[in-house]
Amino acid sequence: MTFSRKLTMLAACLACVTAAHAGAIKEDKDSLFKPTGKGWGELDLDSMSHPERAATLKAQRSANLTYQGGPVMVAPTKVYYIWYGSAWDSASQNVLNNIASHIGGSPYFNINTTYYNASNTHVVNQVTLAGSTSNAGTLGSKLTDANIQTVVTSAISSGALPLDSNAVYFVMTDKNTTATSGFCTQYCGWHTNTNFNGQNIKYAFVGNPETQCASACGATSPSPNNTPGADAMASIFSHELEEAVTDPDGNAWYSTQSGMENGDKCAWNFGTTATASNGAKYNQTFGTMKYLIQQNWVLQPSQACAQHYP
Ligand SMILES: [Zn+2]
Repeated sequence: MTFSRKLTMLAACLACVTAAHAGAIKEDKDSLFKPTGKGWGELDLDSMSHPERAATLKAQRSANLTYQGGPVMVAPTKVYYIWYGSAWDSASQNVLNNIASHIGGSPYFNINTTYYNASNTHVVNQVTLAGSTSNAGTLGSKLTDANIQTVVTSAISSGALPLDSNAVYFVMTDKNTTATSGFCTQYCGWHTNTNFNGQNIKYAFVGNPETQCASACGATSPSPNNTPGADAMASIFSHELEEAVTDPDGNAWYSTQSGMENGDKCAWNFGTTATASNGAKYNQTFGTMKYLIQQNWVLQPSQACAQHYP
């Protein structure tokens, strides 16, 4: 769905947007796309080169999220990685393993505990990296959305990863792999769900922008861990994780005015940053490693982007 088409729908029928969101499940990919030509840093809506889009984004970002009644991931969340492609290196994998191992319990992920389900049960600040597997590239380097789902389901079918409805499976593609429905031009990542072997499983795509679209999807050099692709993927991973937890099936927490989920509200908004010894900007520390991670939308005490909660 293109941004302009979405606007047309918004003007025509608010209920249509809601229905489309719930039906399509997959988030509005454009919401996680930093317009090209914009340097690294905050997405500055006052100086965007497209004033109409800037005005629209401002309106969308000011609209509060509301609860639409669907399930929320209130059990401790497990992360499973699928390293896709043959160009992964251990330093890059370490950056992404470390954030998945330490984001749970952090003041940053605690933002998600302000979200709750129909029983008023809140998200818990617990995430574990429960497993990972590799796929050297059995479906080639240009993945369709269906291919990405197959990468996930085949990892489960083969026994490489368990079937787990309290997990989010992340397809982490290497720098040589792209996603044909719009990686780099429409989105940097996305999340969705499907029914598989009787379970509702959640999965996400996170692309590696290092050589394909560094400016569009936020890969800089220097980067906090000197792994530009993986450092950029860490923020995209966080975005998709927090959306999968609070809106796993696309019918829980989002804005009925814009379709935005929590991560979308604060995409490319980093808040206060510091400068690491290598000159890279960072704003979060997980374990002992530094990251530049977008803010997330907190519901309490009032709805806003935040770096941590409380
Ligand atoms: Zn999003």
